[in-house]
Amino acid sequence: MKNLCWTLFLTLAAGLAAQDSKPLNSQTLTVIRVGALIDGKSDKPRHDQVIVIQGDHIESVSDAASAKLPPGAAVIDLSKATVLPGLIDSHTHIFLQGETPAQGGYDANILYAPLALRAARATVAARRALEQGFTTLRDVETEGAGYGDVGIKQAIAGGYIPGPRLFVSTRAISTTGGYPLEGYAPELDMPKGAQIIDGAVEARKAAREQLDHGADWIKVYMTHRSWVGKNGELVSQPTLTVEELRAIVDETHGWGKKVACHAYSGIGLRRALDGGCDSIEHGLDLDDAAISQMLKQGTWYVPTIAAYYTDWAPADTPEGRRDRLRASVHEPSFKKALKAGVKIAFGTDMGGIPWTEPMAQEFSRMTELGMQPMDAIQSATSRAAMMLDMEGKIGVVAPGAFADIIAVGGDPLRDIKALESVQWVMKDGKVFRSDLN
Ligand SMILES: [Zn+2]
Repeated sequence: MKNLCWTLFLTLAAGLAAQDSKPLNSQTLTVIRVGALIDGKSDKPRHDQVIVIQGDHIESVSDAASAKLPPGAAVIDLSKATVLPGLIDSHTHIFLQGETPAQGGYDANILYAPLALRAARATVAARRALEQGFTTLRDVETEGAGYGDVGIKQAIAGGYIPGPRLFVSTRAISTTGGYPLEGYAPELDMPKGAQIIDGAVEARKAAREQLDHGADWIKVYMTHRSWVGKNGELVSQPTLTVEELRAIVDETHGWGKKVACHAYSGIGLRRALDGGCDSIEHGLDLDDAAISQMLKQGTWYVPTIAAYYTDWAPADTPEGRRDRLRASVHEPSFKKALKAGVKIAFGTDMGGIPWTEPMAQEFSRMTELGMQPMDAIQSATSRAAMMLDMEGKIGVVAPGAFADIIAVGGDPLRDIKALESVQWVMKDGKVFRSDLN
């Protein structure tokens, strides 16, 4: 049954892809009648609105009662739905297909999958994201698939395949001993899921190479292994030194771009902040010093909560104890950061989570830990846009923004799970999905 559904899905997908590549007339006018509008920025929803779209952008948003409808415009009726800006996932891996141990775990992605297969799977992952209403992804490294993300981004931008707008970070950077593949015979020269550097000169060179080949962001791993310490605390192995990280940050900022840092806790987290990372990814165990430094430096926090509840090792093993500890320290860490007013952006770590799972599950994790639904929505819309330096262009339904718009049947402010069934998706003024009754 699963296979049959999949075949059907691919057939439908092929049909939609053909429609998708039609060029869009920049004068095309579309009017959307909206029942409830959560615009991504305002504190409260507005009712009975009209959105006018010209070509790929939003021309105006106004009350239905006073709206002047342009003659000749196509009208889309979403008057029974809740309309929102296209969602932004700030932490994905389209080149990763889950790390399920039964399927060979992480290593199988690199050891057995030819690059063309990985590109084909990334193409499907990009489409899956768009179907779920995610019209923008910050994809934080290809896990051994080189500059494949730059190619997928070009394919989407060129209209060859459907997908979200992508901010890509290519190969990522870590140090010797700081990334898989690992655990093989030392005589073997194994490929690595990230570009390995040692020393500030190599660090800067890696950043230059990646920026030269199209990275929009640079991704750095500031911690790697983690385990349960003597006193039951989470210990993370630090990777880059502050000097190495500073070389990367300095180079990347010079290009007008930013650095995303994977960091769990302890020494590596401190180095990440001292070295000037623009965003902390995961941040499992943020202490008070880290939180105040993030506030002072304006550092973003992309907590990726849901990812730490999947694939736990058995409870009576060191890995199993570690997996449970990660989740249990993450919860108070997120709550503290939220209370202190750290800037939080929504991120899932999809790819680490299989792409067959709902991306919007992260919203439930965030609200269960005390974040208000509107706040969680803004972390995946206007605030993520701010992190991406795209304020006003994406993550908002307002004049001048790209017409990236979605609709759901229910009210996500009452039940955040409504976002797990997005039924209507428009990107760049083109309807990609329309399943509303
Ligand atoms: Zn990740």
